[in-house]
Amino acid sequence: MRVLYVISEADPFIKTGGLGEVGGSFPLALKKNGVEVRVILPMYSKIALELKEKAALLASFKVPLGWRRQYCGLQELIHRDVHYYLIDNEYYFSRPRVYGEYDDAERFGFFNRAVLESIHRFSNFKPDILHCNDWHTALIPVMLKEFYSSDLLFINIRTLLTIHNLNYQGIYPWEIYFDVLGLPEAGLCYQRFSFKDVINFLKAGILYADRITTVSPTYASEIQHPYYGEELECILTAKKDLLTGILNGIDYERYNPQTDPYIYNRYGSYAQKLQNKPKLQKDLGLPVRPEAPLLAVISRLVPQKGLDLLVHIMPQIMAMDVQMAVLGDGEAQYENSFRYYAGLNLDKMSFIDYYDEALAHKFYAAADMVLVPSRYEPCGLTQMIAMRYGAIPIVRETGGLKDSVIPFNKFTGAGNGFSFANYNAHELLYTVQNAVGVFREKSSRWETLAENAMRSDFSWERSAKLYIDLYTALLEQLS
Ligand code: ADP
Repeated sequence: MRVLYVISEADPFIKTGGLGEVGGSFPLALKKNGVEVRVILPMYSKIALELKEKAALLASFKVPLGWRRQYCGLQELIHRDVHYYLIDNEYYFSRPRVYGEYDDAERFGFFNRAVLESIHRFSNFKPDILHCNDWHTALIPVMLKEFYSSDLLFINIRTLLTIHNLNYQGIYPWEIYFDVLGLPEAGLCYQRFSFKDVINFLKAGILYADRITTVSPTYASEIQHPYYGEELECILTAKKDLLTGILNGIDYERYNPQTDPYIYNRYGSYAQKLQNKPKLQKDLGLPVRPEAPLLAVISRLVPQKGLDLLVHIMPQIMAMDVQMAVLGDGEAQYENSFRYYAGLNLDKMSFIDYYDEALAHKFYAAADMVLVPSRYEPCGLTQMIAMRYGAIPIVRETGGLKDSVIPFNKFTGAGNGFSFANYNAHELLYTVQNAVGVFREKSSRWETLAENAMRSDFSWERSAKLYIDLYTALLEQLS
């Protein structure tokens, strides 16, 4: 089984968020489970020099893109035992940002076509499956059928498209369809791209792919409803027999409190974890008080993350005997609110307004609770990382949060976190109060909860096996 995993970011090459983390760890898990997987991504100028220098040029050729013929350098390297291909084109990928450039449609249109053109140039590797991810690669199933259907090399290749976040769809004007992509003027293709009076890359990808997955079973069913469907709920419902939800895993080597180089004190038990909290409190300028529950937020500050709920109840939270540490950057409305409350409560709250990987690990190791009250959450890695570090997640029951957090049962002691159902600030407040109440009990219930969380299994192993089953089913259709 040979899989070409196509993704716009993969750690350690490039990572802007959860997608890059998945791109870094999922292929490793496939490989461990016997899949011959290779990864292909753009060669952004931001990729570290030592990785770029390890890469060797395999081929150079011209990629058709509408009337254009654009240069492509196909580079390859082996890293951590995985075979990577990098698509090199300075004009498209030597930019300050990975996304958000004025010509993203053309940049990723080029990337998609270049991937397909590259398959001819691979040595000793003919993929059976092209596993695509999000709108940045959603044109691959389209181009495969529209441009390569008579090419013998491609005839038995199957496509799978994973939706990591339905909110990002790649919506562009029609001139991209004609001028950049050079797709047919009428017919099925035209209809499949059409979205109101513009085009939608993800919509077309969903309609062309042989199978669709998303990153949790709950999200797979949520997106068939208007509240979560981002206006694609009808086509997702129509495709529901081809749509599967598989929960992501996390990289258990990177997130391992026993070996983590970033944290203050490494640990394998809840009792040892406790040494981390005073050190973070000191570093953040908070009073060193082991008995005060430390609530952490480690998040992009965007509406998806449900921070409106938190901001709404900040006065009540600050009135409790707790400490709060927020690490996140994003929209000014949230940054300003957290800055305001941190300024008002110097002895209770700290706000760090940038992205800092090492500090994030320290937060997970030190925190008692991690808040993830998302409005929607396709999978969410934050709550899984928190659990691995014995920090108890407090989440809203949506998407992958619902599929990974088992609410604490005060009668049996079972569970690994706390959760609430409705998008309502006072439900969040009640749940925080409830968690703080259990934390303060003079019993060992909190320790049991933390140990449960640390023992929960969110390794890639289980998810990789489910993907392999899907790949197998796809290939069986051929025989
Ligand atoms: P999303 O991909 O929607 O941002 P996920 O929960 O899937 O959400 O992944 C977020 C990842 O980014 C987690 O590993 C989290 O620890 C990390 N992260 C978020 N904000 C920051 C930050 N300011 N500094 C460091 N890491 C962060």
